[in-house]
Amino acid sequence: MAGSTPRIAVLGGDGIGPDVAAAAERVLRSVRPDCTFTHHHFGGAGLRHHGNPDPEATREACDVSDAILFGAVGGPEFDWRPAEERPETALLALRKRHELFANLRPVRMIPGLEHVSTLRADVVCGVDVAIVRELTGGAYFGPKTSTTDGRERVATDTIVYRESEIERIASFAFELARTRRKHVMSVDKQNVLSTSRLWRDVVNAVASRYADVGLDHMLVDTAAMQLVRDPRRFDVLLTENMFGDILSDEAAMLTGSIGNLPSASVGTRSTAFGVFGLYEPIAGTAPDIAGLGVANPVGAILSAALLARHSLNDAAAAERIEAAVDRAIAGGARTRDIAGGGPSLSTDAFTEAVITTLERPVEQVS
Ligand code: NAD
Repeated sequence: MAGSTPRIAVLGGDGIGPDVAAAAERVLRSVRPDCTFTHHHFGGAGLRHHGNPDPEATREACDVSDAILFGAVGGPEFDWRPAEERPETALLALRKRHELFANLRPVRMIPGLEHVSTLRADVVCGVDVAIVRELTGGAYFGPKTSTTDGRERVATDTIVYRESEIERIASFAFELARTRRKHVMSVDKQNVLSTSRLWRDVVNAVASRYADVGLDHMLVDTAAMQLVRDPRRFDVLLTENMFGDILSDEAAMLTGSIGNLPSASVGTRSTAFGVFGLYEPIAGTAPDIAGLGVANPVGAILSAALLARHSLNDAAAAERIEAAVDRAIAGGARTRDIAGGGPSLSTDAFTEAVITTLERPVEQVS
């Protein structure tokens, strides 16, 4: 039974994860003071405190929450561990347990950061792509083997997709396209992979239910090229798990830093407030800058906006947060990764700049 106020489980994780998750929480608290936040160990922090990257207590807290605000997990100190003890394995299990099959990764050029991108400003100016990545199927979840044939070691990963898995993610992408510029670009590798041929077939069938949304197909290698050649041609980019993982990191750099990108992972479970989901920046734990207080919290803060939109059904709060990030950047606030060598703020000071601009109404955004 849901409580009367939304319950948000905060899983900061490792490296810069706790810092950026704390920034997102501060901003969300400012726009939705009615939310209750609880904090739990996960990933490397789970291993350290509970001997398990996916502790029972954290699992129980997530089960009774309305949304999860997530930082990032992993780090070189865990790389030697067996797969079942690795923080990243726990994250895959968390997504699977809650059937969070739809991963939305909006890639938006924040005005003022065009010159931070490694691409020309005229190429990246105005980029606004919504990457929809299937999150609970494909090679990351298919059967794996690691063996030896007597002469040498042999490893396999298996890509598995069921029709129903493709149908539900494609429907999600078409519904999203209806709220945007009404175009879906489905990305696959149908000239080589049988899962991609099934993917294309099912996406075509789903498209027939959405006469108002345009559909094109593109091979993943071409998509990787077109994302840097002409990124503005994409509206909704729909793809499978591994392709989406790789293409969204590539697309992140259009915006100047991987630290800028948020994500929402949602499934079908409804709560009293919206759809249950997990919200996290797409970047990892950034071990090279962990503990320095310089991490860019934009991706995490924009993830909190996605949480408001999808898990709290509060589009106004989401827009306030997004506008505040734009305004803080328009006002000159920068963390080190997006400062282009100029003056920069700490994670905390940048977050403060965002919170300060929250106070102004959305109409004032230029
Ligand atoms: P990473 O994303 O952590 O870092 C890549 C580069 O981007 C680094 O130079 C880092 O400093 C920079 N960067 C990332 N986020 C930043 C931010 N917010 N502000 C400023 N700079 C930022 O990728 P990696 O180094 O390949 O992975 C490190 C660890 O993170 C690994 O253990 C990996 O498995 C894990 N990881 C976790 C997640 C997740 O929890 N969802 C995602 C990706 C990687």
